[in-house]
Amino acid sequence: PLRGIYNYSIILMEDYAQVVGEEGIEYLQTLVSLSQRMDTLIDVLLKFSQIGQTELNLEVTNLNDLLDAAIEVFRASRRDLHQFDLRIPRPLPNIQCDRVLVNEVFGNLIGNAFKYNERQQKWIEIGYFDTEERSRLKLPQTNNLNPDTPLFYVRDNGIGIQPHYLETIFRLFKRLHSKEKYQGGTGAGLAIVKKIIELHDGKIWVESIYGEGSTFFFHF
Ligand code: ADP
Repeated sequence: PLRGIYNYSIILMEDYAQVVGEEGIEYLQTLVSLSQRMDTLIDVLLKFSQIGQTELNLEVTNLNDLLDAAIEVFRASRRDLHQFDLRIPRPLPNIQCDRVLVNEVFGNLIGNAFKYNERQQKWIEIGYFDTEERSRLKLPQTNNLNPDTPLFYVRDNGIGIQPHYLETIFRLFKRLHSKEKYQGGTGAGLAIVKKIIELHDGKIWVESIYGEGSTFFFHF
């Protein structure tokens, strides 16, 4: 049906331009771009619903290799990365996870950390805390966490998130900006990330100082 709406709008624009007039053409252009956007959203919805339909393919995964590959793909897809400083204070541990899905988690978080940042000197830090550091940092969300489970974080010096949005940003299709701003997006990335993490029985949350930066904490 969507393809039909799109096609008929194009036909009207091309063959009936005289009839609908300038204003009519504008409306039809809006109709075309709305149908294209809806097409994207349906694709995203499909992707979202397919995650987790098959069993997780759990294997011991070297996160350093995974991250290297994810960053390489990310850098290759952008030409404006020269001012982006990636900090990995120490090597990440191996974990048992679905490699393909966890790759998606890091890819999304790194992508956002870069996207939602207006500074000249952008940096992204990726690391983890073990039990001792966690108790020093007093993170209440980790009270019941198994001591052997590493707590990962992706931190940026970007635009930050206002306190009342810290939870809603994980909802499907939730975006805080107009569709053109910050290179656009569908608002599905974090919902996908959350779903993948929860499929691993893990958790994700974010802390942020608005205007200074955000830290996404997660464990698998
Ligand atoms: P999208 O990037 O397509 O909008 P996401 O689900 O990845 O969708 O993110 C949802 C919203 O959360 C974004 O629109 C943005 O407002 C906010 N957000 C995500 N990551 C960050 C970040 N690192 N810093 C600031 N805001 C962020």
